[in-house]
Amino acid sequence: MTSNLTLIFNKGTKRSQHNFIPEMDIDRADLAEIIPSSFQREDFPLPDIPEVEIVRHYTELSRKNYGIDSGIYPLGSCTMKYNPKINEVITRLPAFSQIHPLQEGNQGALELIHQLSEMLIEITGMDGFTFQPAAGAHGELTGILIMKKYFENKNLKKNKILIPDSAHGTNPSSAKMAGFSIIEVRSNNAGEIPLDHIEFAMQQGDVAGIMLTNPNTLGIFDRQIKDITNIIHKYGGLCYYDGANLNPMLGICRPGDMGFDIIHLNFHKTFSTPHGGGGPGSGPVGVIKELVSYLPEPSIIATEQGFVCREKTNNSIGRIKCFWGNFGVIVRAYAYILALGAEGLKRVGQIAVLNANYLRVLLKEKYHLPYDRICQHEFVLSDRGIENNITTEDIAKRILDYGLYAPTIYFPLIVKGAMMIEPTETESKISLDNFVEVMNKIYNETKTNPELLKNAPFNTPVKRLDAALAARKPILHD
Ligand SMILES: *Cc1c(COP(=O)(O)O)cnc(C)c1O
Repeated sequence: MTSNLTLIFNKGTKRSQHNFIPEMDIDRADLAEIIPSSFQREDFPLPDIPEVEIVRHYTELSRKNYGIDSGIYPLGSCTMKYNPKINEVITRLPAFSQIHPLQEGNQGALELIHQLSEMLIEITGMDGFTFQPAAGAHGELTGILIMKKYFENKNLKKNKILIPDSAHGTNPSSAKMAGFSIIEVRSNNAGEIPLDHIEFAMQQGDVAGIMLTNPNTLGIFDRQIKDITNIIHKYGGLCYYDGANLNPMLGICRPGDMGFDIIHLNFHKTFSTPHGGGGPGSGPVGVIKELVSYLPEPSIIATEQGFVCREKTNNSIGRIKCFWGNFGVIVRAYAYILALGAEGLKRVGQIAVLNANYLRVLLKEKYHLPYDRICQHEFVLSDRGIENNITTEDIAKRILDYGLYAPTIYFPLIVKGAMMIEPTETESKISLDNFVEVMNKIYNETKTNPELLKNAPFNTPVKRLDAALAARKPILHD
C-alpha cells in the first residue's frame, strides 16, 4: 500500500529548502562536543508538500481506524468506555499542561494530587495512594515490591504467591518480575476459588499472600471474598487486589472492606483516560495504614505552610517513575470524579453491570455461556456448539464486517474458544441491541454460509491475514 505521500516522503528534500526551519546557529565544530558525530547527519529529508495534502493523508488514515468514537468496543477486561471530552479540555488547560514539577508555585497541582488521593481513599477503602505507576502492570509491580519489602523487613522468607487461573496475565508476570514464584489456584465450576486450596497453600509457611482480580476475568464476583482474605491474614499473608476491573464496583463496594491490603487501579480504564492508543496511562497503588510508609517517594504531605514533598523514609521502595507519574491522566481522573460525584459514580457501576447482563441474557440464547450466573462488568461466551468448523476467530473477524469491534478472544484461557464481552456503561440500549442483532446474524451465517465466515473480513482496509505465514515470515517494514 503506497500512498502518494509515501512517494513524496521517499523523494525527500534538503533541510535548507524548508524556509520554516531556522538555520542552525551552532558551529559544527562545537556541535561535535554535544552530539557525537555518528549521530549527526547532513541530510534531513522532510517532505515538501502542501498542508492540504498532509491534512488529507491523516484524515484518510483516521477513517481507516476504528475507535470508541466510531462505535461499540466490547473488548473484555479492557473497559473501553467513552471518555467525556470535557476532561480532555480540562487537562489541556495551560495551568495543568504547561507546568514543570521542579518549578515553584506548583501548589495547585500538588493540592489536586492530594485531593484525588483523598477521593480514592474513600472510593476504595484504602489509607494511602501513590500515582507514580504508569500503567496497571506497573502498579502491580509496585504493589508486589511493597509486599516483598514488608516481609523482608520482618525477616520472613516468603517467596511464593497465590494467583488464580482466572487472573489477568499481567499478575503472574509482575509477581515473577519481583522475584516470587507463582502457585496457580484452579477455580472451581462456579468460577470461584476453592478455600481449602488456599488454606493448604498458606499452611506451608512460605507463601506471601494472594493476587486477585475481583470480579475476575470471567466477570464473576467471588462470593467468598471475605473468607479468602481472612484465610490469608490468618497465616500472616497480604492480599493484593487487581483493581483494573473496578468499573462495576464503583460506589457499590470497596476492596478495603473486602479485606485487601494493596490495590492498583487503572485510570485509563475506569477514570476517563482514553485507552488502547498506546498513550500515557496511570496505575495508582493504594495501601492500608500499615503499608503507607512503603509507598514510592516523594510523597505529598499537607502542612500549614502548604503542600510539601517528603522523601526518605526507611521503608519506601523508592521511586518507580520520575516525579508524580503521568500528571495529565491524574487531572482527567480528578475532573471525572468531581463531575460525577458519589451518586454519579454509583450509577456508572450499576449501568456497567446492567449492560453486561443485558447482553449476557440475550446472547446466551444462541451462544454457549459456560458460567451462567449474574455477571459484573463482563461475561465470557465459548464457541461450543458452533457448527461447520467455525471458530471464535472467524466470528470475531466477521463482526468487523458489520462495522463493529470484536470482543477479546481466546482469553481467559480456562474457557475454550472464549469471547469475552464488556460493553461498559457508556453504550446505549440501541447500541447494545445492534450488537446482539449482528451476533445473531453471524450465528445464522455459521449455518448458512460458513465459507463467508472463514474468509471474513471483507469490508475492512486490511483483509484476513495469513496468521501462520505472518508468524513465520514477518515483514516488519516496507
Ligand atoms: C488491563 C488489566 C491489567 C493491566 O493493565 P495495563 O495498564 O494494561 O498494564 C491488569 N489486570 C487487569 C484485570 C486488567 O484488566
